Amino acid sequence: MIEFHDVQKYYGQFHALRDINLEIDKGETVVLIGPSGSGKSTLARTVNGLETIQSGQLIVNNRDLSDAKTNLNILRRDVGMVFQHFNLYANKSVLENIMLAPRIVSHVPEAENKKAAMDLLDMVGLADKAQNMPSQISGGQKQRVAIARSLAMKPKLLLFDEPTSALDPEMIDDVLQVIKQVTSASDMTSLIVTHEMGFAKEVANRVIFMDAGQIVEDDDTKSFFSQP
Ligand code: ADP
Ligand code: ADP
Repeated sequence: MIEFHDVQKYYGQFHALRDINLEIDKGETVVLIGPSGSGKSTLARTVNGLETIQSGQLIVNNRDLSDAKTNLNILRRDVGMVFQHFNLYANKSVLENIMLAPRIVSHVPEAENKKAAMDLLDMVGLADKAQNMPSQISGGQKQRVAIARSLAMKPKLLLFDEPTSALDPEMIDDVLQVIKQVTSASDMTSLIVTHEMGFAKEVANRVIFMDAGQIVEDDDTKSFFSQP
């Protein structure tokens, strides 16, 4: 699903991703950890083309992102992303936030789209908030809506960039439970940047540790957490 071959990424002179080699298979749930500024967010953002790479090869869902001709809009139909700061449309209801991309991008018929959106809201425990505006719900609820919205496009791959870092502590668990449920679907591939070690241990099949733009460890979860 994801292949990095000798990838380098610079911000001006700053070497943000160094010699990244990485393969993530369909169905994996991979957690990316490491100190602040180590390049985790940058790595996740290259996967759906929010950041471009300067050299090496990056292939996502059989599309070559190192080729400037690759159509990112087509790639992003299959690659969802959940951000730290939710990025919901403030002037649209919760339900409309979820229905927008399937309507505009995939031309899903309205009744079918609405039913699917309500099912997703039900799954994240927010069916009763469908008509609320984002300003009327909590941060944890916003993030659950953002997850439902990303699922509405039926992505093959979901990227999570510190999905709980902006939340009040009492809201973190509900969001982690939803992420756990979503990532356990066998055909879903997930890459999750997080500082939640307990969650990583419980949910990931693999843990990657970054430092100073490099991958310094890449191990199955059990081995990772059993090291001295
Ligand atoms: P992490 O997610 O591990 O905290 P980031 O990928 O956000 O790390 O950032 C890695 C490094 O790249 C940091 O030093 C950060 O300041 C720098 N960086 C991130 N985005 C930009 C940018 N748009 N322009 C310049 N430097 C950036
Ligand atoms: P996060 O780690 O959650 O991505 P940051 O504060 O590192 O949050 O980055 C927020 C935004 O600022 C991102 O879009 C990132 O690319 C950009 N950014 C981060 N560091 C720098 C930097 N040194 N110069 C310019 N932009 C940066």
